[in-house]
Amino acid sequence: MFENLEVWWLSGTQLLYGEQVLGQVDEHSNIMIDGINKSGNVPVKIVYKGTVKSAQEAEKLMKDANSAENCVGVITWMHTFSPAKMWIKGLQALQKPMLHFHTQFNTEIPWNEIDMDFMNLNQSAHGDIEFGHACTRMRVNRKVVAGHWTNEDCQKKIGVWARTAAAVADAKNVRCLMFGMNMNNVCVTDGDRAEFEQRLGYHVDYYPVSSLMNYFKQVTDAEADALVEQYKKEYTIKIDESGEEVYWEKVKNAAKAEIAIRRVLADEGATAFTTNFDDLGDADIDSPNFCGFDQIPGLASQRLMAEGYGFGAEGDWKTACLYRSLWIMNQGLAKGCSFLEDYTLNFAGDQSSCLQSHMLEVTPLIAVDKPTLEVHFLGIGIRKQMTARLVFTSKTGMGVKATVVDLGNRFRLITQEVECIEPKPMPNLPVASALWIPQPTFEIGAAAWILAGGTHHSAFSYDITEEYWEDFAEMTGIEYVAINKNTTIPEFKKELRNNEIYYMLNKALR
Ligand code: MN
Repeated sequence: MFENLEVWWLSGTQLLYGEQVLGQVDEHSNIMIDGINKSGNVPVKIVYKGTVKSAQEAEKLMKDANSAENCVGVITWMHTFSPAKMWIKGLQALQKPMLHFHTQFNTEIPWNEIDMDFMNLNQSAHGDIEFGHACTRMRVNRKVVAGHWTNEDCQKKIGVWARTAAAVADAKNVRCLMFGMNMNNVCVTDGDRAEFEQRLGYHVDYYPVSSLMNYFKQVTDAEADALVEQYKKEYTIKIDESGEEVYWEKVKNAAKAEIAIRRVLADEGATAFTTNFDDLGDADIDSPNFCGFDQIPGLASQRLMAEGYGFGAEGDWKTACLYRSLWIMNQGLAKGCSFLEDYTLNFAGDQSSCLQSHMLEVTPLIAVDKPTLEVHFLGIGIRKQMTARLVFTSKTGMGVKATVVDLGNRFRLITQEVECIEPKPMPNLPVASALWIPQPTFEIGAAAWILAGGTHHSAFSYDITEEYWEDFAEMTGIEYVAINKNTTIPEFKKELRNNEIYYMLNKALR
C-alpha cells in the first residue's frame, strides 16, 4: 500500500555560510533520513530533495512536489538559519501536506569544542522558528514535530503523518458509487457532495441499481460455486433455522451479489460504495420475470470492506469514503477497522456501554475469532428473506470512532475514544457486533457526540488514534473536534461555539 509512495524532505539553509557548510548540511541530512527510513517507524519512504538556498529553489521544489504523483507530502527542516521570506512563494505554491520537523543533527552540545562555526551550522533552534513564523503568518496548515530525529516518539509522529498523507492522497482518487440513493428522510447521511469533493477529494456518484442487476444476472453458477468454496475455507459453516437447502441457496446468491458488486467497482474504477436496503432491484420477488437481489448483499459488504473498499450502509457516502481512508491508514497495523453503527444501550453504572452492530455490515477485520457464516431471517427493508451474513464478536481494548458531518456551512470531523469491552453471550442475536464504553464515560461521551452532531454510523479502528485524525483534518482543512478522557460538557460546548465563530469569520475555510 505504501511501497510506491514517497515523502520529500527539504533542508532549508541559505548561501551566507559558504560551500563547506552547505556540504555538511547535505551530509547530515542524508544520515538523518537514512536513519529514519531504517527505523521502521515511517512506512512511507523519505526521499531527500537537497538543500534549499533561495526563493527560486523553494518554489520549484514545491511545484515539483505538487505534480509528482507518488509524493504524498513534504517535510521541511531548517538546518541553519533560512530567512523565511525566501519560502513565501514556495509555501503559496504547495498543495500537499507539510510536516515541519524541528530537530538538529547532533544530540548534545559539545561543551568543550563548541565555537561560533559549530553554532552557525547547528542553528535549527533559530532557523525553524523563523520558518514557523512565516507559516503561521501565511496560515499554512501543517504538523509541527519537535524533538531529536533518533527519538522514537518523533519518528512515530512522522509515521502517523505519513500514513495520513497517503490516505489523503488516495482520497483524491476515490470514486464512491451509490447503489441507490441515501435512505429517504434520513438527515445525517445527506449533504453536499460537490463541496465534499472540493474539500476532501472524494468523488461520489449515483449508480443505477438496474445496471448492477445486469451484472448480477450474468454471474454464472460456476463462478458462484467457486466463491462459496472460498467461504468454506475462511469461515465456520453454521446451519440452523434455514435448513440446509435454503442455507446453500442463500449463500450462493450472496456470492453472486459479491461477484456482481466487485465487477461493477472494478469496471467503474471505484474504491467505495453504498447500498440501500429499500432498493435492491425489482420490488416484487414473486413476479415472473423478477430481477433483483433476493437478500440484502450484507455478506458482500462485510467482505469487500475487509479488502479496503469503503462502505456505508443506507447510502451513507460520507462514512463510506471515510472508512476507505481509515483502512488505508490502518494498513499493516495490528487490530483492524470497520464500519459500525450505534445500535442499543446497556446501562450498567460506570460500565454503561453501547452495542455496535448493523443489520449485517460489520467487517471481520475486527473479529476476535474466526467468523461463522450463517443464514437467518431478516425482516427489514424491501426483502424480508433468509439472509447470509458473517457473525462474530470483536476484540477488546481502546479504539477511536470517527465521522464527518455536513453542518451546512462546513464539514466537521468528530472522533471519540472508546473502550471495547467483552459482551455477555447473545445467543439470539445473529449479527456481528462490538461493545464499547464512550470516553470519558457513557454519560459525558455520548452527550458530547450528540452535541457535536455526530452520526449513528462511524468508521472505527483500534489502531488509528486521535493523532491521525487531527492530521487528517489539518491536511484537508476541515474542522476537528475530539471527545476523549479529558472532555467535559461545558468546555466542549464552548469549543463548538468558538468554532462556529471561527468558521463564520473564515469563509474561505468553509
Ligand atoms: Mn445503518
